Amino acid sequence: MRALGSGFTTYGWAPSTAELARRAGLDPVDILRFDGNVPPLPLPSSRPAAIAAELARVNEYPHGGYPRIHEAIAEYAGVEPENVVLGAGADDLIMLVARAYAGAGDTVSVPPSPTYPLFRIAAQLAGADVADESPVLTFACRPANPTGLLEPIPEARPLAVDEAYFEYAGDPGAVGLIDDDVIVIRTFSKLFALAGARIGYALASRDVAAELYARQSPAPVSTLSVALALAALASPPDVAPVIEERERLARELRTLGYEPSPSRANFVYVPVDDPQAVAEDLLAAACVVRVFESAIRISVRDREDDDVLLGALAGEPLPPGRRARHVRTTTETTLRARLGLDGASRVRVGTGAGLYDHFLEQLAFHAGFDLVLEGSGDLETGDHHTAEDAAIALGEALDRALGDRKGIARYGDAVVVMDDAHATAAVDLGGRRHAAVRIDPDPGLASHVLASLADNARFALHVESSGVDAHHAAEAAFKATGRALRAATRNESGVLPSTKGVM
Ligand code: PMP
Repeated sequence: MRALGSGFTTYGWAPSTAELARRAGLDPVDILRFDGNVPPLPLPSSRPAAIAAELARVNEYPHGGYPRIHEAIAEYAGVEPENVVLGAGADDLIMLVARAYAGAGDTVSVPPSPTYPLFRIAAQLAGADVADESPVLTFACRPANPTGLLEPIPEARPLAVDEAYFEYAGDPGAVGLIDDDVIVIRTFSKLFALAGARIGYALASRDVAAELYARQSPAPVSTLSVALALAALASPPDVAPVIEERERLARELRTLGYEPSPSRANFVYVPVDDPQAVAEDLLAAACVVRVFESAIRISVRDREDDDVLLGALAGEPLPPGRRARHVRTTTETTLRARLGLDGASRVRVGTGAGLYDHFLEQLAFHAGFDLVLEGSGDLETGDHHTAEDAAIALGEALDRALGDRKGIARYGDAVVVMDDAHATAAVDLGGRRHAAVRIDPDPGLASHVLASLADNARFALHVESSGVDAHHAAEAAFKATGRALRAATRNESGVLPSTKGVM
């Protein structure tokens, strides 16, 4: 084997969540990764149905390539399909561009440290040296990882601009320069929440794109990943909430006395005196950040998660409270729940089982819980599995959040009317499972979903609901159950848990 150049260091992966949990003595489900610069959850478009058609022909090669995604990316990026080169993540394209331009005896210029290490690694693996004198290729990173800064586009040519975080920058980027010897490298790993699918693309002039293709393996991207990327491109997520949360996080960090760099990406770079010590303290509070020589980098997750990190940095970790995180995976569905019993009715349920998502949202809202319940299931078979598993996941999370159930009111009941519908619900959280649920008329799975919830949260539930409209009868039943749970979960021990946030 040919030796790697002296001074070469391989890419260093962060430890697995299981390993970090072991080190911190925590349950892996509670570990919050602020070190990957990826969204906290997959998009709703990443459902098993998105890949079902490709699974049915996964024995075949992608003969003829991937014309549909070339067209979809071209439309998204404002170029022609011939300008698009697909790769197994931006990383694959960084490696491709480096070996296409550089070889032994050549020089490649990379951004000053700290920067994304793969530029140097790719240049060195191509056999080239990294320096700024007469480079055959220059890499730029806009917005920059890890600082989040958006520096001007360098004049150097040929130039490869890594735009992994392009969508968060609110800047047109370098795509307008592809006919001026500029290659743009982007990814589905960040805004599109597909890091595990390993798919990205380069944008280049027709000639350069053709030269890059000639240097690739025949089909470096899987048909399944292409299907996921196509589904994601069909409904690109809104970047505005991430940017809003990034700015809030930066503001809160400043309030705590930190000075984060102004970020145009989905993370903030925060100079600190002893980054390793800060990271270790944060790990004890279940938060994993990326450590640099004189800073930590914090990925933006969402308000509730970010508040856990802010609380830990402030030295006021959220008290262990009536909260739970829970992941439930079956062959049909994957669902993640984050539940806080002493919440402010901040509720988001998105599993794709439309009507039942809405009903569970109503239940959690009226219970006064904070709930995020997200995931995906095999909706192509109908909403049965997804709706049922959502109720089971919520039930299991509720069971966990109730802990030993000491000090709670235990009993609760409520009456709710909605137009033509009238519902009564009564619960006993003593720990014995029983469900007597009558919803008349039932729009389909409503009684079953409530019974699954009671069964998995270990409570007794009695519901009577009737009306003219099935939707109303079911909705009133879920609201009444929520109201009954609000009363029964009330903490009567005298020691009020924090309502400051959720886990
Ligand atoms: N470029 C930069 C600047 C990055 O931060 C990352 C992700 N860590 C990548 C590329 C890799 O992206 P991908 O997952 O598409 O390989």
